[in-house]
Amino acid sequence: MPIATRAFAATASDKPLTPYSFERRDPGPDDVAIQIKYAGVCHSDLHIVKNDLGNTTYPIVPGHEIAGVVTAVGQNVTRFKVGDRVGVGCMVDSCRQCKPCQEGEEQYCVPGMTQTYGSPDPKGAGVDQKITQGGYSSAIVVDQDFVLRIPDSLPLDAAAPLLCAGITTYSPLKTWGVGPGSKVAVVGLGGLGHMAVKLAAAMGAEVTVLSTSNRKRADAERMGARHFLINSDKEAMKAAAETFDLIINTVSATHEISGHLQLLAKDGTMVMLGLTTEGLPVFAMPLLWRRRRVAGSLIGGIRETQEMLDFCAEHGIACDIEMIAPEQINEAYARMEKSDVRYRFVIDIDKLAA
Ligand SMILES: [Zn+2]
Ligand SMILES: [Zn+2]
Repeated sequence: MPIATRAFAATASDKPLTPYSFERRDPGPDDVAIQIKYAGVCHSDLHIVKNDLGNTTYPIVPGHEIAGVVTAVGQNVTRFKVGDRVGVGCMVDSCRQCKPCQEGEEQYCVPGMTQTYGSPDPKGAGVDQKITQGGYSSAIVVDQDFVLRIPDSLPLDAAAPLLCAGITTYSPLKTWGVGPGSKVAVVGLGGLGHMAVKLAAAMGAEVTVLSTSNRKRADAERMGARHFLINSDKEAMKAAAETFDLIINTVSATHEISGHLQLLAKDGTMVMLGLTTEGLPVFAMPLLWRRRRVAGSLIGGIRETQEMLDFCAEHGIACDIEMIAPEQINEAYARMEKSDVRYRFVIDIDKLAA
């Protein structure tokens, strides 16, 4: 039976999100049906709602930081059972044939992953749906291969944002080999940045936060940062030149890029995680002078996402969250646009009106 689902959806780029009802597909043999408990609010949600990328289909239910409990499983599902605590992140399927998929990096699937919301849905999101719909909703049905296990020691609410903010920062830290002795800088202490600080510190790195003001210094230190730099402080920036092995850049403002490259040591890499539609003003000189690199990184594969969740459980790490009721979502978006959130909004899905 299809699953009647309550949600909050955007119906147009200039309209607030409003209550919305639809049906999830009848769970198939490989599917896991999940009652959603919490959904994190990611900046990408806002981009899609506002049609910033120009390809949004309405109505759209955003949300790709999903935590909940299994309510049913298909006959082929062996790894999950009713009552299990599970999560769903930014993708719900991929081609499974291409090289990245074979290597467990489904996020780089060549024909393209099926995103949790807003993607053409080969399996049909519901009776009248042709595109996937996300986690600001009471239920979701997902192929077992794209369901994550949330360890018992992690609270479900603070674990939800790990499914995007956590893996987006964990993956580049692992890719660039961060460990004891690494010097890592994190630009911007927001939803992504605060997770980068916690994860890098737990991996043993010496972490520095670069921010535009002193406002979040105490928070940064509490999260494990050893140093705090104001990026407009020319003297401090000069003193920090040639210091870092890795810079995790979580902000979308492009003008700071070249100045920040000087902070990299030889062979250092700056990884861009923020979605920006502008070009990056990168000059060759600071790159070739110390063999520096500018790179990008997109979430992480399913295997690595599970590894990240287990790492967080082992190290007692989760997101700093502000809980909201579903009808506060539009207010939360307005605050998020002003970076006024410490550090992730999470929707209490149990409060969705019946
Ligand atoms: Zn996200
Ligand atoms: Zn693929």
